[in-house]
Amino acid sequence: MSAADTRVTHRTTCRLCNASEVERVVDLDPIPLSERYSTDPKAAAALPRFPIDVYMCRACGHVQQLDVIDPDYLWSSYTYYSGDAKGMPEHFAQIFEKVSRKIDLAEGTLVVDIGSNDGSLLKPFKQAKCRVLGIDPAVDAVQRANAAGIPTLQDYMSPALAERIRAEHGPAKVVCAFNVFAHADDLSSMVDCIRTLLAPDGLFFFEAQYLQDIIDGVLVATLFHEHLSHHSVKPLIAFLDRHGLELIAVERARIQHGSLVGTVQVKGGPHPIDASVRDLLANEDERRLDQVETLRAFGAKVTQLRERASSLVAQWRAEGKTVAGYGAARSGPTLITQFGLKSKLDFIVDDHPQKVGTYESGDGIPVVPTAELIKRMPDYTIILAWVHSELIIKNNRNYLERGGHFVVLCPSTRVVDKDGDVQI
Ligand SMILES: [Zn+2]
Repeated sequence: MSAADTRVTHRTTCRLCNASEVERVVDLDPIPLSERYSTDPKAAAALPRFPIDVYMCRACGHVQQLDVIDPDYLWSSYTYYSGDAKGMPEHFAQIFEKVSRKIDLAEGTLVVDIGSNDGSLLKPFKQAKCRVLGIDPAVDAVQRANAAGIPTLQDYMSPALAERIRAEHGPAKVVCAFNVFAHADDLSSMVDCIRTLLAPDGLFFFEAQYLQDIIDGVLVATLFHEHLSHHSVKPLIAFLDRHGLELIAVERARIQHGSLVGTVQVKGGPHPIDASVRDLLANEDERRLDQVETLRAFGAKVTQLRERASSLVAQWRAEGKTVAGYGAARSGPTLITQFGLKSKLDFIVDDHPQKVGTYESGDGIPVVPTAELIKRMPDYTIILAWVHSELIIKNNRNYLERGGHFVVLCPSTRVVDKDGDVQI
């Protein structure tokens, strides 16, 4: 990356409160953007790397990344469809149930989803005869949504768009932002748009990875360019308040190894504030989640984990063992870089049609079908699709039976063979 690279901007102030007392708390190596696969290994290996260090705001406690990639560049080759992601349709069905318990979804109720991807979240609302509207900048995902009968605008959320939707469709009883709340750089503009869209008695639901889960699970895999905010409740409450909104309920969900689902209303709206908000706040205070020292301790744990895993892999390579990766996942580039796996993996297995036959970004590692795992029998296979570690281990018994090992990187380095965990 050169200083003149316009694809990345380094913020100097907090994303939530605009204070300039931001401090770097986790040092990481710059990584290439994820989801960049090339059929030319040299081009794949030469892709630029951008910083992903983690910062904390001393004023409000918000934990965030300050190196912001130009969204058009970041999202230009996005191959993720939420409807295809394991467990997501079921998760969205549960979300629908949750929303319908909190608000009356009478026929014709307007439900708007920001960052709606292929429309998977809106599907159950449509089935319940709500009026649904999705907004997403990704061309392919929007085409899929519209083809599936979920009306979706291909655009970024902006104040002008929010005004237009309100004028054309009326106020929304439900606004969701399930995929974008951790991804937007200008969160102030985002929540102002949400306030414009919301009916006075409406509810806004969001989901984002929860800081405490990231710390407890040492989830290095989730630290990549798309994830700009690592939310916790305390800074969010103050932020929403400044924008005329209030957090009325929070819930922790297990999806993606731990997330936070928040319910928000316009300040002074009809819903009382649920005890869940107070309880989680008390828990955050006890865990000292808003303290720089807590995040520094997390950073030290990350360093320890990186050193342990990379020295193990280096040792295996020195012994002449073969090492592969499982899953050309979005978290691949960060795991490969942070754990020193570059030039240590012979290949990565994945069945995604857009990835097979290509090379992993920034590293030039070939992506081959999962059937190759048994054919090539690498001694060790590092799980890069970390969210599905247990499933991958369960579904590949034959690889283990023949002498293979799976390696899980977080929260601690685990090596698994046919008999279970191996002492390392
Ligand atoms: Zn702040």
